[in-house]
Amino acid sequence: MNLDPDPQTEAFRAEVRGWLTARGPDPPLPSVHTAEGFAAHREWERTLAGAGLAAVSWPERYGGRDATLAQWLVFEEEYYRAAAPVRVGQNGLFLLAPTLFAHGTAEQQDRILPPMATAEQVRAQAWSEPGAGSDLAAIRSAAVRTDGGWRLSGQKTWSIRAAFADRAFGLFRSDPHAERHRGLTYLMFDLRAPGVTVRPIAQLDGEPGFAEIFLDDVFVPDADVIGAPGEGWEALTTGPDAAAAVSRAMDYGTLASAALLLGAGRGLLEASTQHAKTREQFGRPVGAFQAVKHALADVLIGLEFARPLLYAAAIALGGNTPTTARDISAARVACAEAARRESDISLWLVKVRSLSSTWGSQVAHRAVVLAALTQDRAGAWS
Ligand SMILES: Cc1cc2nc3c(=O)[nH]c(=O)nc-3n(C[C@H](O)[C@H](O)[C@H](O)COP(=O)(O)OP(=O)(O)OC[C@H]3O[C@@H](n4cnc5c(N)ncnc54)[C@H](O)[C@@H]3O)c2cc1C
Repeated sequence: MNLDPDPQTEAFRAEVRGWLTARGPDPPLPSVHTAEGFAAHREWERTLAGAGLAAVSWPERYGGRDATLAQWLVFEEEYYRAAAPVRVGQNGLFLLAPTLFAHGTAEQQDRILPPMATAEQVRAQAWSEPGAGSDLAAIRSAAVRTDGGWRLSGQKTWSIRAAFADRAFGLFRSDPHAERHRGLTYLMFDLRAPGVTVRPIAQLDGEPGFAEIFLDDVFVPDADVIGAPGEGWEALTTGPDAAAAVSRAMDYGTLASAALLLGAGRGLLEASTQHAKTREQFGRPVGAFQAVKHALADVLIGLEFARPLLYAAAIALGGNTPTTARDISAARVACAEAARRESDISLWLVKVRSLSSTWGSQVAHRAVVLAALTQDRAGAWS
């Protein structure tokens, strides 16, 4: 099996890299977990959409550019290599859209996908509940049939982006007597509809990265049900036909996060290497010392080893082969391990820049821990 990207894919990589270098925000945008930052990230998404880069794998008529699966992964890799802004619309783009392509009606696709691509409408995920985490089928929030639609009641939690998002999507129990994975309906709702209360949850840095969503008799029209009522679990996890595995939203999300980690690791390695070439100690660049040289080479090998696994998984997913789930997991683990090793090296070499620096709350967390350590209060974490 040839796992080298073809010339068109490499040309696409060069185009994306060039565009991000020329157009990437400088200075970086404020945190997406603030009202100001959320608005700035929406604006950035509009810029991406204008360049046809917001949802590259989608058909053109919805705001995409019909990119192949491999090109899409290249986009993700290059995007995070460039440390470009987090995707404010990622829930919709990576989790809702694949389900809409598989199970949505033409009307839903036409109505929902274009404003999702431009971040005119940003969506939050509403799966988790206080009693339903790993055990998602324990969902208790209810959808009760009414004239022309459904009435939702209950509580969702840990909903990322919900503090500032426009709409949400998730599973609701529409048949309380059905077996656990049955009787669930996949619904989309307006976060500003009467009966919806969004209560932000502060992260360590104090910003509302997550929110609880309380629903009190919220009306949702039939047009906002995805798939058949009572078959929400199937809509979330399968496709309508033999191409079932291809449409599994989680497969796409996992592959995208593997590409993200590969790209972020690559970006950090380039920064670390640059630092090693320019930072002088003992009369020469620190990169001239064997320990540093070997450490950087090992990281590069790890990243290069992970990339073919990513493309093998993409080929498996595209061909719906029986090994798809295994290949995606292997790629995700390899990319995550390689990126984590790079992050360690980066922290060791540059001290202040590592993978965690790409996620705001972790920077704050590290600052808190370091402050405690220097004040000899480390015991607080033991
Ligand atoms: C960064 C982040 C973003 C999130 N965003 C969203 C979002 O946008 N929308 C949303 O709905 N939810 C979101 N979540 C919530 C997430 O889906 C839940 O945290 C997850 O489902 C786990 O549930 P829990 O936290 O209740 O853990 P629990 O289910 O209580 O699990 C606790 C621990 O027990 C382990 N465990 C549980 N069952 C088993 C088992 N059978 N065998 C072995 N180990 C087990 C788990 O692995 C875990 O370590 C997010 C979470 C995080 C961390």
